Amino acid sequence: MTITFSETQKNRLTDLGWKGASANEEFATAEQRERAYKKTEKAAIAQNREQLLQLINETHQPRLCGLQQDLALCLHEEGFTQVTTPAIISKVFLERMSLDGSHPLTRQVFWLDSKTCLRPMLAPNLYAVSRQIMNFAKMPLRIFEIGSCFRKESEGKLHLKEFTMLNLVEWGTPMEERTERLKELADTVLRAVPIRDYSFREEFSQVYGDALDVVSRKGIELASTSTGPHPLDAAWKISCSWVGIGFGLERLLVCREEDEGIHRYSKSISFLDGARLNIK
Ligand code: ATP
Ligand code: MG
Repeated sequence: MTITFSETQKNRLTDLGWKGASANEEFATAEQRERAYKKTEKAAIAQNREQLLQLINETHQPRLCGLQQDLALCLHEEGFTQVTTPAIISKVFLERMSLDGSHPLTRQVFWLDSKTCLRPMLAPNLYAVSRQIMNFAKMPLRIFEIGSCFRKESEGKLHLKEFTMLNLVEWGTPMEERTERLKELADTVLRAVPIRDYSFREEFSQVYGDALDVVSRKGIELASTSTGPHPLDAAWKISCSWVGIGFGLERLLVCREEDEGIHRYSKSISFLDGARLNIK
């Protein structure tokens, strides 16, 4: 009978991002397996240490932070103005997004008390801030935010409880140009990442209705888009036509790096810039 690495050993190697074939190796005895595991773990640890030292001594910035900077710069050049708004929002703002109890996303909200929660999306604050800016600025008005959003998720390879959203919105896009413009804006952002191999997929959003999603070559959702005029607009006293896109930055990273496991690139105390931190 042959034996393979134990589940604990396999998990540790996965955590260390080890992609070598030896993870599925077969052994004749337990002693052989232990010897092979020690050797493999040592190699995996060395690889992580190398990555971390490169960060500490050379690049100094995790890819998540670098990506935020690059995308912000690219959008500034396209005439988008950046805003930064609170992660704590009111129940009223959620209700205006139709998240009122019957909506599935409502169950994913982290409540702080009966009236406030951690935002599960950037859209409500963008609506609120944009409404004010429209009082003095001309259309088209281009606004974006990059910031943390929070959702109760059973964390898998694609979902985090805290993730970084880039949400852009262009108010005043002519009606007949909306689809074209959405594709153009998605392309601008993805070029800046860069991710070249992606496509658009028609999707139904519980908040926005029929919409286009941006998906990676492997079929992973990278962004969802939306357009207006939309029934939700009335609650914010907005009546112009518009286009908007929400990207998940950690998803963009995991796709660009052709890695598995979104948590490696997330805000974390266990991982730093794709590398495992406990490598003593
Ligand atoms: P999914 O169907 O994959 O759970 P979603 O449609 O609920 O995602 P949206 O509300 O459309 O997500 O959010 C816009 C983008 O934010 C998504 O396309 C994705 O890139 C990212 N995103 C959403 N939820 C998460 C999460 N829990 N962790 C990481 N990224 C996320
Ligand atoms: Mg979506």
